[in-house]
Amino acid sequence: MTKEIVYIGLGSNLATPAAQIHTARQVISKLDSVLEQGFSSLYCSPPMGPQDQPDYVNAVMAIATDLPAIDLLRCLQQIEMDHGRVRKDERWSARALDLDILLYGQHIIDQADLIVPHYGLAKRAFVLYPLHEITPMLNIPGVGDITKLLESCPLDGLVRMTS
Ligand code: ATP
Ligand code: MG
Ligand code: MG
Repeated sequence: MTKEIVYIGLGSNLATPAAQIHTARQVISKLDSVLEQGFSSLYCSPPMGPQDQPDYVNAVMAIATDLPAIDLLRCLQQIEMDHGRVRKDERWSARALDLDILLYGQHIIDQADLIVPHYGLAKRAFVLYPLHEITPMLNIPGVGDITKLLESCPLDGLVRMTS
């Protein structure tokens, strides 16, 4: 199978978020069949949805992999659990780690448990800005150039962290 460039969105707002992002990066980059290609700065963002939770730390990672997308999703979900992710009924509630597949090469995937490009990608500042930082010329299949998306995406309180 050919290698695809895959972008993963990382987010955390519990249990020392920056450390969660850091260890998730280490674990993902050591997966069989995964080679890290890039990693954005860390960004701080106010929560989506319920506001009675801490701010998030977000980042975007690029990898090259020949893992099928659904197998990669299962790996990422296991890493979320290993980092203490507890699934709650409430949408967008606080979590130690969220790992979303943003893009899988130029593929468009529409399965019950996997939609790629990620449905929130085009609207979310905490995804678009770090994605643009590591790949400024990115084309998002079915959507268009990332530069165009950024033009209509306010920062919404997003702040790039210095370290
Ligand atoms: P959001 O999807 O709005 O960012 P979330 O990340 O908190 O919210 P989760 O609870 O992590 O949502 O995931 C809910 C479901 O989304 C998962 O069970 C997974 O099967 C599905 N899913 C669909 N597409 C994707 C994708 N591209 N990346 C990760 N999960 C996805
Ligand atoms: Mg998410
Ligand atoms: Mg998720």
